Amino acid sequence: MLLPDPDARRPMEPADFLKCIDDDERRDRYSAVLERLDPLAGVIRERFFAVDGIPDLRIIKNAPKGDTELRDIVGAVFIADGLLDWFFEIDEFTRGFIDIQYPFGKWSVAKIGAMWAYAHEVFHFVRRHALVEKHFGKSRDVRHALEFDADMCAVAVIYRFVQFKENTGDELQLKMAVLKSLFFIVRAEIDQSSIKEYEGSPTHPHTAARLWDLVCKLSMLHDTGRTNPDFVNPISIQHSLVMLDMVKDLERKYLMAKNRDFESSVIGDFLCQNSELKFTRSRHEQWDEISRLIDYFSTLPREDVDNDKSIGFIVNGLFSMPSKHSDAGV
Ligand SMILES: [Zn+2]
Repeated sequence: MLLPDPDARRPMEPADFLKCIDDDERRDRYSAVLERLDPLAGVIRERFFAVDGIPDLRIIKNAPKGDTELRDIVGAVFIADGLLDWFFEIDEFTRGFIDIQYPFGKWSVAKIGAMWAYAHEVFHFVRRHALVEKHFGKSRDVRHALEFDADMCAVAVIYRFVQFKENTGDELQLKMAVLKSLFFIVRAEIDQSSIKEYEGSPTHPHTAARLWDLVCKLSMLHDTGRTNPDFVNPISIQHSLVMLDMVKDLERKYLMAKNRDFESSVIGDFLCQNSELKFTRSRHEQWDEISRLIDYFSTLPREDVDNDKSIGFIVNGLFSMPSKHSDAGV
């Protein structure tokens, strides 16, 4: 009988994946990160409609980081072990110049990285993005808006998770703790990404734009449990300014550790060039338009949405949709 090739690329349940790691230290590291994901899924279930449940988690052994994806059709999120290894590399690198032990102790950066990647893919599923795309098409603005939607939900749920766990009452401190870890994950992605134009690729916004969106979203989250989308609350503005200062400071430290000067900062350059929201406005406008459909779809069982009768229409710039209680399925 042939024994399975230990180096073969294969998706595994997290527990089986951990079992097949021989090195104790490596297994402990993976375990410390993966054990965060189930409680995070619990928070997603609590705070969002997840009428089709939360997709299963599979770890792909011996896979490059880019293989991480949601397979909507089988209802599973696949995280490549190469992505986890990359998060550990980033975590180790940051330890050379900054001490991040908060909010999750050792490997805080890697842990938040895994939560971020996982939550982002889960929200593509929970928020029914494949169906929204089916109805609205795959234009660049729609795809960017869906990435934006997944990012915003992911950062909100990570923040709520940390808030619940820490319960210190100081929301700005907690936001900064989340952003501090997340910054280094997003920053490393900016350096590695093939997307160099601030307009983004046909499918994804530029990563610096995603970082800007994260700061805005975190600023808007408040203890009332409600967001403040139009920045009418002066506390949101105050939080965004403090967090932008923190981003600039972290960027300086990151570039120094890489022996690069601040003049070369992609983030600094992006923030300057986006001062009139040139690269983010159309995505936000598209999101304003389709978020109502996303909200609506995500409350309905799949069989009620995945049919021709549920198609949303844009008529003269106005959004309309057949009634939820139409004769679908009859
Ligand atoms: Zn995505």
